[in-house]
Amino acid sequence: MRIGVVGAAGRMGRMLVQEIAGHEGAALAGAVERPGSDAIGQDAGTLAGIGAVGVAVGDDPKALFDAADAVIDFTTPDATMTHAVLAVRSNTALVIGTTGLDAAQEQTLADAARTVPMVYAPNMSVGVTLLTALVEQVARTLGPEFDIEVFEIHHRHKVDAPSGTALGLGRAAARGRGVDLDAVSERGRDGHTGARAPGAIGFAALRGGDVVGDHTVTFAGAGERIELTHKAASRQIYSAGAVRAALWLENRAPGLYRMTDVLGL
Ligand code: NAD
Repeated sequence: MRIGVVGAAGRMGRMLVQEIAGHEGAALAGAVERPGSDAIGQDAGTLAGIGAVGVAVGDDPKALFDAADAVIDFTTPDATMTHAVLAVRSNTALVIGTTGLDAAQEQTLADAARTVPMVYAPNMSVGVTLLTALVEQVARTLGPEFDIEVFEIHHRHKVDAPSGTALGLGRAAARGRGVDLDAVSERGRDGHTGARAPGAIGFAALRGGDVVGDHTVTFAGAGERIELTHKAASRQIYSAGAVRAALWLENRAPGLYRMTDVLGL
């Protein structure tokens, strides 16, 4: 499968170039950066630290979409909107890892996915996807007599809390219980908070050092506790998941798919 990368000089873009180069059944169809980027004209493999692969970074996404069977996009919400339009025009499958999209932008993706097959996931890690499915299942099985708490720790540079992944885990737990997360979530406890509200789903966030990202969902009952944990040691888990998603899209019908679909969960 010929896979293109937009945002090829970004932290994730470089990992994607590396992942595609080392993946059987995948070939790099092209690499694009925003116009004016210092990366334009440089070899995408050299930028990714794997040596030249004979693909120069360009600034024409339209040509890339025409040349590729699938394009992987970890850029910015605005750029992702442009790429969704190009995917429809060229009938190219799309994998989107960009986070921070608002509701209108997510609707644009849903509209585009009526024409092209698309995977959109704020966390492409196979492990986190599996954890999310397990959390939903455990929450459904245990019932409300078990208190649910979501814990996460990330590096000192992270600017938002709780992480999008922690919120996704909370949503999965709420789904399992058949409740709306917004109605039961307890965040930022401090001072005299009173006893824990029955049915609450709590969140706690730590920040420090260079931690890539750990998430634990605790189910605390009377006399026993179950803890489900995922620990990320490298961002490579996201690029590996994204390439797996791109390959899964081959010959797939149009639609907006999630990583759980890719894994068959
Ligand atoms: P980054 O800033 O290092 O990379 C983004 C790249 O996109 C930059 O090189 C930038 O120049 C490029 N870009 C911006 N506009 C462009 C355009 N119009 N055309 C082409 N390229 C353009 O950021 P990053 O750490 O690689 O993260 C990128 C996005 O992916 C963020 O939204 C981040 O939250 C998300 N992310 C998602 C996952 C996941 O699993 N879904 C994992 C990690 C990061």
